[in-house]
Amino acid sequence: MSKDGKPEGEPIVFTDRYQALGIPYPEAETMCLGQCEGTGMVPISRGETDPVFMRLWREAEAKEPSDDGWHFVKCPDCGGTGKRTADAQG
Ligand SMILES: [Zn+2]
Repeated sequence: MSKDGKPEGEPIVFTDRYQALGIPYPEAETMCLGQCEGTGMVPISRGETDPVFMRLWREAEAKEPSDDGWHFVKCPDCGGTGKRTADAQG
């Protein structure tokens, strides 16, 4: 085992989006309450029905068309920080 707890010499298996993105787990107390679940990024598909995500998807698609119809966009709730905003507290 390496010092960060990952087995060495074995294929890396991502079990969740935090490992997949290589970011630490968010603190439950401070993590964003939006769709990003503390990552700051939200996966959205062309099938989104929320107007906010529909707009973000179109913006992302205009910038760089997706092969599979998915885009990772900055979370509109936290602006990509993954932290709960002051408005959402309480
Ligand atoms: Zn967020």
